[in-house]
Amino acid sequence: MESTTPAPQDNAPTGCVYLIGAGPGDAELLTLRAVRLLERADVVVYDNLVSAEILAFVPVAAERIYAGKRRNEHTMRQEMINALLVRLGKEGKQVVRLKGGDPFIFGRGGEELQALAAHGVAFQVIPGVTAASGVSSYAGIPLTHRDWAQTCLFVTGHLKDGTADLDWPSLVRPRQTVVIYMGLSGLADISQQMISHGAPWTLPVAVVQDGSLPSQKVVTGTLSDIASRVAAAGLKSPSLIIIGEVVKLRDELAWFKPGDTASNFHGNKATPEHETLPSLRA
Ligand code: SAH
Repeated sequence: MESTTPAPQDNAPTGCVYLIGAGPGDAELLTLRAVRLLERADVVVYDNLVSAEILAFVPVAAERIYAGKRRNEHTMRQEMINALLVRLGKEGKQVVRLKGGDPFIFGRGGEELQALAAHGVAFQVIPGVTAASGVSSYAGIPLTHRDWAQTCLFVTGHLKDGTADLDWPSLVRPRQTVVIYMGLSGLADISQQMISHGAPWTLPVAVVQDGSLPSQKVVTGTLSDIASRVAAAGLKSPSLIIIGEVVKLRDELAWFKPGDTASNFHGNKATPEHETLPSLRA
């Protein structure tokens, strides 16, 4: 069946909303397409997980609108954001809707696009590195591994009514990794529920705050002690919970040293080939 909406073009004279994933934080994880679109945006509507380093790609002349949603502090209601995007698109602007991670993974990107589609506003989606992928990489935890995990589940620990009413039997299956977004405040409950549903209390868990950023912190433990360890370390949002045997691989594979520029791409004088990479901003 043929689509009734015209195919959106980059250089179309009418407005277009680009729903862009900004990745977990490190600006180097932006896609080329994200950077190119940011550099020519008329207006950028961004969330609180988007770092200043990433916003630096937005031209000074472009309008920046903060639409962030922190827990229990809804700066702009979802309906208002939807209406704003529809209005800006109809004004003929090149609108960037910038979200942390990937817009289609726990990002309400689908809801925003439904509003645009209902009003006939053109849009495109630019995927980003989702927290599960980006944060686990920077924590040195492969989400799957032939010896330890053949399945990986992404779940949200924060449900609409504030409880973590998850499908516990599916979460405690062996040989899988469970990645929990927005689960920090429910961590004690989540660990307890997993143990009650048959997971070994020794199952390794990592909680990673600010993954991929210089402020990254990783706390590891087991289902039995992770909540108290995380509380003692004072971890804050955004934090990602990774549960499964693969967490143990971090002992061997942790490579990212936050704040140590020598471990990062640009500062690595030991590998001169990195220096020849073209600048995206050139
Ligand atoms: N669309 C985003 C997820 C939004 S939900 C994505 O694909 O990544 C927000 C949750 O993502 C946070 O509560 C946290 O669990 C996780 N998250 C996002 N960025 C993170 C980061 N840099 N470090 C740790 N967790 C992160």
